[in-house]
Formats: sequence, C-alpha cells, structure tokens
Amino acid sequence: MQVRTRFAPSPTGFMHLGGVRTALYAYLYAKQNNGSFILRIEDTDQERFVEGATEVIYDTLRACGLNWDEGPDIGGPCGPYIQSQRKATYLPYAKQLVASGHAYYCFCTKEEIEARRAAVEAAGGTWKYDKHCLHLSQEEVQQKLDAGIPWTIRMNAPTEGETSYSDVVFGDMTFKNAESMDDMVLIKQDGMPTYNFANVIDDHLMGITHVMRGMEYLSSTPRYNYLYNALGWEIPTYIHLPTVMRDATHKLSKRDGDAYYSDYIDKGFLTEALVNYLALVGWNPGTDREFFTLPELVEAFDIHRINNSPGIFDVNKLEWMNSQYIAKMDFDQYLAMATPWFDKVLAGKNIDYRRLAELMQSRTDIFSRIPEKIAFLAEMPEYDTAIFFNKKQKSDETVAKEVLPLLLPVLEGISDWTEQNIHDVVMEKIQEWGRKTGSVLWPMRISISGQESTPGGAFEIAYLLGKEETLRRMRASLARLENA
Ligand code: GLU
Repeated sequence: MQVRTRFAPSPTGFMHLGGVRTALYAYLYAKQNNGSFILRIEDTDQERFVEGATEVIYDTLRACGLNWDEGPDIGGPCGPYIQSQRKATYLPYAKQLVASGHAYYCFCTKEEIEARRAAVEAAGGTWKYDKHCLHLSQEEVQQKLDAGIPWTIRMNAPTEGETSYSDVVFGDMTFKNAESMDDMVLIKQDGMPTYNFANVIDDHLMGITHVMRGMEYLSSTPRYNYLYNALGWEIPTYIHLPTVMRDATHKLSKRDGDAYYSDYIDKGFLTEALVNYLALVGWNPGTDREFFTLPELVEAFDIHRINNSPGIFDVNKLEWMNSQYIAKMDFDQYLAMATPWFDKVLAGKNIDYRRLAELMQSRTDIFSRIPEKIAFLAEMPEYDTAIFFNKKQKSDETVAKEVLPLLLPVLEGISDWTEQNIHDVVMEKIQEWGRKTGSVLWPMRISISGQESTPGGAFEIAYLLGKEETLRRMRASLARLENA
C-alpha cells in the first residue's frame, strides 16, 4: 500500500503550533513510508476565509522543510487541491447519497429552523435538525427544486445504534449514533460542501490512507464513517493527535501571543529548534534523545509512540533547546541573524559586530533577548556603585577609586585600540603594580559597563566601546566614586 497523508488547513488566519505539529507528523509518516504528503486547502467556509492566510500556510510549511508532494501550487494527479475550486466535484456524491436514502434535500429556511429550535429549547430539549424534510415525497422535492426554492442536502443520520472504530492513538472508540450524529448539512445553499462532507470526499478521491488531525475530531468520526460506508468506500486509518497545551489546563492562545508559529519566529526562535521541539510534544522516541534534524525525525518517528494525553508545550524547554541550536549554528549565519537585533540598539554606533557576535553566540537563547543584553553598549546604564564590591575579585569601591586613576593614563596611551593591545598593555601594568588581576579588571569592567554580568570581560568591552567612549565612561564612574 502506498502511504498518502495530507495536511488540510483552513485558511482562517495564522498557523497555529498545533497545526504545524499535525503537518509535521503527517509529513514524517509519509516520508518514512516512502509515501506522499499532500497539501489541501479547505476553504469552503468562505465567511471564515482570511486574505493572505493561504500564503502564510505555504511559507510556514516551507520554512519548516515540510515540502508537499502534491498541492495547490505544484499540482498533482488529484487536483485541484483547493476545495473551493472543486465545488462541482461534491454535488454528484451528495445526489448519490440522496438516491440511496443516506441523504435528502432540505428546504427549511433559517427562520423556520430558528423557530423550531427555540420551541425545543424552551421546552428544555436540545435541538437537532428534526428530519422535517426527510418525509417529502420525490414529487414534492422535484416541485420545489423546479420552483427554484433554495435547498441544502442533509445527511440522513441513524438515530439508533452505535458506531465503533479504532484510532491509532486513542484506541477503540465507540459512540452512540443518537449522540454523535445529526442530520448535518452536506451541501450548503451556496452550493459549497461543508467541511464535514468535503473532507470525506476529498480524502477518498485523493487516496488518503492515513488521516491525521486534532483530537477534537474524534467524536465527528462516526459521521464520516457513515458517509464512507454509504458510498461504499474504504475508511482510512485514523491518527487523532492530542491537543498542544501551554500546561495541563491552558490552551495556547492568540491573546497570550503563544499560539502561532509566527509568534515564535518573531521572538527569535529558530525554525529548526521549534520543529525539533514540536515533534516531542506528544511523541517520544522511547529513548532520552532530544535532538533531531528533520531527516532524523523521519527515521525515528513512530505513530505508535504518539501520546494520548495533552502535549505540553513548555516554552522554557524550547528556549533551552533553541540556545543549543544557536550555539551550534554556523557563525556567519548567526551573525546575519543577530545583526538586525544588534541594530535595534546599536545602529549607527560603529561597533564591531563580528566580535560582538562571537561573544554573544553562546549567550543567546532567543534572538529577541539580544537587545537587552547589549543595551549597555549603546548607553551606560544607571548603576549602584556597590557593584564594585566583589569578594572573589578582591574589589570594592575603595579599590576602584585607587585603580581607575591608574588605568586612565594607561588606556589613554594606547594608540592602536585593538583588543590584543588593550589586553597586553593592561596585563603588563597589573604585573608592574603588583596587584591582583581581578582587583583591576573588575573595577575596569564595572566602570565601563555598569553591570556585573556582561558578554565578554573588561578587554572585550573596552574594545567594543572604542577608546573615546571607554575613557569617557571610566572618568564618569570615577567621578561618581569620588563624589560619593
Ligand atoms: N480544515 C480542518 C481544520 O483546519 C482540517 C481537519 C482535517 O485535517 O480533516 O481543522
């Protein structure tokens, strides 16, 4: 059997992380079976359609390396792959279901349905379409059709019995038909199929063997199976995926800015790290291994190890993983990606970005935190002179008051302001003065950075700041100490 999986997003906005993970799993499963991964755009609900959302889907999947074998832009044997362009495909199947008694024409208006719903609910019942039009004779139906009365086609759902099926992740599922099914609309008044109908028709016509989608569809599956059976089609293998959650009780949300792929990319996460981490949200390789490239995931992925409890998306874990990916990045690529973040605070400052990048690469967890870490290079921060105290470095304010006046003329004397020269000259003087290294370098670094923790030490920072700025800051710090 040739494995065919699909990702079938609705273009209703940005790409949710749960969607990216669904696409990833569908891709991995297809690739590890030398099968095909198909992209289908489900846009039959034109009211929910968002301009530009289809491009976001393409761009996100491409960025993640989830290249599809068949899809709207590249075509394929089962095209078109955009449901609105397949509009004419669905009606014949709906008519076939009408002919076999599994579906029927409905001429109820919205208002009529609303009135009946209100009455049922007022009497304390739960509304379900009441099969009102099921009992129209063929002649009555034909008359109404001829008269041009607007219609829909509804499924004639069973009202008794149960439907069972087996899901790869959730195991054996059984639903009471009366509870899980209703006479849902298959073809809408505008001639478009509903998602509930189109997904069955398309999955069959596109030869999909394994359907992966969110677990919110578990209870809808009996309806789909009813349609597959009514049409005499083979039911695909179902792999329902647990929801991606922020924690045990919270979903990822648009409002918290943690739901969409783009939220993470904008914050400076690497796509590779995100894809790697997402793979592990809901699946585990059965070993302690955590780092996987996409091809390695293709090898290791196992649908039987998908968890049926919610996948917790732990952003702290992702940050850690991201920092590991950044540390291993090619240096020039890091420099290129870090540059716009450097620019946010250092644009126009004439700072050696290459050197800064060397210092920052191992200290970057997410790119968006770079500006706060290097802001002191742009402007001397406010600081408490108490930070001149450092027991281990044998430094305090008194020591600093002695050391800075010694350092100033030494630094002034350096004409070629390279990191090496600053290092050599200062180290030589420290020897000459007979002082402990830390007791000079700690005050030096604090006086020009205003903070205890910096990327790089006194020499690196002095070099990055340039001679003039270094001296200016050191003099200002000394003045503060003397006036204290
Ligand atoms: N268009 C549906 C969605 O975005 C797809 C569900 C499915 O994969 O069948 O939720």
